[in-house]
Amino acid sequence: MDQYVYDFAEGNKDMKDLLGGKGANLAEMTNLGLPVPAGFTITSEACKRYLAQGTHVDGLDEEIDQHLAALEDAMGRKLGDPADPLLVSVRSGAKFSMPGMMETVLNVGLNDESVDGLSRQAGGNDRFAWDSYRRLIQMFGKTVCDVPGEEFEDALHQAKVAKGVKDDVQLDADDLRALVSAYKKVFAKHVGHDFPQDPRHQLDLAIEAVFRSWNADRAVLYRRQERIPADLGTAVNVVAMVFGNLGPDSGTGVAFTRDPATGESGIYGDYLQNAQGEDVVAGIRNTLPLADLEKIDKKSYDELLSIMATLEGHYHDLCDIEFTIERGKLWMLQTRVGKRTAAAAFTIAAQLVDEGMIDLDEAVTRVSGAQLAQLMFPRFDLAGDPSPLTRGVGASPGAAAGEVVFTSADAVARAGEGKNVILVRRETNPDDLPGMIAAQAILTSRGGKTSHAAVVARGMGKTCVCGADELEVGRDQFTVGGRVVHEGDVISVDGTTGRVYLGEVPVRPSEVVQYFEGDLDPALANEPLVAAVHLLMTHADEKARLKVRTNADTGADAARARRFGAHGIGLCRTEHMFLGDRRELVERLILAHNPTERNDALAALQPLQRADFLDIFREMNGLPVTVRLIDPPLHEFLPSLEDLAVQVAVAKERGEDSPRDERMLAAVRRMHEQNPMLGLRGVRLGLVIPGLFAMQVRAIAEAAVALAAEGGRPRPEIMVPLVGAVQELETVRAEAEKIIAEVVGDSGVEVLIGTMIEVPRAALTAGQIAEAAEFFSFGTNDLTQMAWGFSRDDVEGAFFWRYLELGIFGISPFESIDRDGVGRLVRIAAEEGRAARPGLKLGVCGEHGGDPESVHFFHEVGLDYVSCSPFRVPVARLEAGRAAIESVGSDHR
Ligand code: ADP
Ligand code: MG
Ligand code: MG
Repeated sequence: MDQYVYDFAEGNKDMKDLLGGKGANLAEMTNLGLPVPAGFTITSEACKRYLAQGTHVDGLDEEIDQHLAALEDAMGRKLGDPADPLLVSVRSGAKFSMPGMMETVLNVGLNDESVDGLSRQAGGNDRFAWDSYRRLIQMFGKTVCDVPGEEFEDALHQAKVAKGVKDDVQLDADDLRALVSAYKKVFAKHVGHDFPQDPRHQLDLAIEAVFRSWNADRAVLYRRQERIPADLGTAVNVVAMVFGNLGPDSGTGVAFTRDPATGESGIYGDYLQNAQGEDVVAGIRNTLPLADLEKIDKKSYDELLSIMATLEGHYHDLCDIEFTIERGKLWMLQTRVGKRTAAAAFTIAAQLVDEGMIDLDEAVTRVSGAQLAQLMFPRFDLAGDPSPLTRGVGASPGAAAGEVVFTSADAVARAGEGKNVILVRRETNPDDLPGMIAAQAILTSRGGKTSHAAVVARGMGKTCVCGADELEVGRDQFTVGGRVVHEGDVISVDGTTGRVYLGEVPVRPSEVVQYFEGDLDPALANEPLVAAVHLLMTHADEKARLKVRTNADTGADAARARRFGAHGIGLCRTEHMFLGDRRELVERLILAHNPTERNDALAALQPLQRADFLDIFREMNGLPVTVRLIDPPLHEFLPSLEDLAVQVAVAKERGEDSPRDERMLAAVRRMHEQNPMLGLRGVRLGLVIPGLFAMQVRAIAEAAVALAAEGGRPRPEIMVPLVGAVQELETVRAEAEKIIAEVVGDSGVEVLIGTMIEVPRAALTAGQIAEAAEFFSFGTNDLTQMAWGFSRDDVEGAFFWRYLELGIFGISPFESIDRDGVGRLVRIAAEEGRAARPGLKLGVCGEHGGDPESVHFFHEVGLDYVSCSPFRVPVARLEAGRAAIESVGSDHR
């Protein structure tokens, strides 16, 4: 039979699955010999059973009986004994910390009789006993019986008003006795029966209430936002009470072993005298800085500091702590590895290396690409310490200021006038898309990290704060905390912290980006954050097996990415080179009536292309550059059908002749496709339009030869898009090889030819295709699109939010690779490709190349490199290092 209850002495910190974070760490501290009140933990398994059955779990009562008896023995008191009561707290605690999401009840075991026993225990301290009793009724009522908390708060408030005092500590025993009566009335009114007097019954009800709190609405919502699995359940901790509300020599506090915002070491925390439990965080009275405890109770203070050092030394990380002092005796009530900001994560990891607590491998695994990405966004300069107007969920990072608008149309109109705008909506829907695109940032009052606004904004890389639920959003104004903000007023939105400010907060560039760019203000060079980033990135690079290349189409992008640490270009798109003043040549090419006209257009394009490539090869001298032959359907380079049709019709009306427009219209009509993404594009273009690929191949080869002639070392790789069958590639290859041989001659230049794997058929016939390819590059955007049958341009705004809500996927498959489906195609192609051609070079050039989760997958599959936008290169480098370190770690296990 499963064991449902563990004494603190039986557990340890690695048992979080079963005992929850709080229980596992209480056990760990107990076994370290730290002063933890005695207690036991009921497992998350028991909770899961309870929730599945909806009623009590066989065998659980007996186990609780045994552990309670042992606890009573250890404490020399019986639960709720009228003469000398043992009291306990009943505390939730899941595997992942869910602050404030679930419930805790203190002082269980008090009733009309044991309250007197408690007073006697405390040397006749009636005030303390009745204060504890009123707290029990309040917490029990709220948590276990759903009594609205305001009713208790009102009653407390009235008691203070009646007495003419401000603080609850100024209420004396008689006041509190009266308050207990008032609380009991509130309880009976809402619950329909009196406050339960049987201590064991109180305990059982509290335990079940904690079980049920796992499925409370706010907990469900929180889990969905934080992507915490819904089926973990919570453990329940039953802990002997210690009392911080026994007088001025008692109190309760929280502490961090170093500053969670900056990572600096020092004494951080708050302390409140004569208080219990939540009072510290609830802000009921003003807390003291922890350092003041030294003056109040030097002995406890010194002991706390020494325990903090023990915990850091033990966990090798920043810990946060809850403690209580009962008449000069210190008790530890909780610890965990503390949450921290992105900047603190880096500085703390580097400091711990410095202090010899962890090694560099470990330090690199303590930070993440997501945190690094946060540090790379421009930030608000909060030097003036502006106070936020309100706060929501930081759904898509970045810092933006602009004029408030309330409709998509207004956003588009004002942005058209060159204004920066912030689109404020209760929530967004697909009709708001144009406004979202036009806005600098999006702010909503409803919805979480998977709402429509959040998903679409992240997809666009746009700043977004959602679920700012204090906002009352109207037609042309919003109100928050009595303040009215009108259309056109300026606000500033911080998508990282979720804070919203009135007025324009100045933005400052990220010093981390300056560091990567190599133009860091020398004054900042010794800044701990920059030094930490340098240390950890250097080590990540050393450990990484996966190389990181960049997607870049210009020399300038290539140069920037190189500064960001790119090992070459994994995707150079050539279509952008067909725009601007070259459009006319492209039109000539498309509209050509005969081979001569077509060849003339191509001949005119070729030197331009050669110059493009030379520029890029120069910037990437010595590093590989993968050039993708032209990919999009050619009609994308022509005017839109609608515009042209109108133009021609208007001309006709006026009796004017426009032969060129008419010819163009006819061509556009001819080339119109129902599903352009599945139409004449990629390799298909090369096979249909004579000379097009040949022109590009020649330009690439000539540029390479030119760089070699300058003494450089070009490493061009020609990539054929959208191949689904080896025959397609063979045809292109045969023609390309001829041209290359002719151009390269004996210059020593080597040109590789490979293909994208982005059509499912290519993945499934990779063994055949590898015969004709020197490398594969997975185009995971198209591969995802075609594997799921999703039109990328349409689905994200149209219905992904619903899919996320339903949990069909936890994150858009365009954002993070779908391991099971699309990932399987990648795996098959990698394995079969390498089997057919050992040493086949494998890379990825879709958006996924810069996504931390996906980078780990590509490492596992054994690819050689990922390629991503220049800005994501450092993120991918860090994750590639982490993936290598973590996979070595798991090999050892
Ligand atoms: P949360 O997870 O919300 O922090 P906790 O279970 O830690 O909830 O409890 C809430 C508060 O009650 C904390 O301040 C904690 O220190 C205090 N507390 C919990 N158990 C005891 C106890 N046995 N004696 C004294 N205080 C306690
Ligand atoms: Mg706590
Ligand atoms: Mg593609």
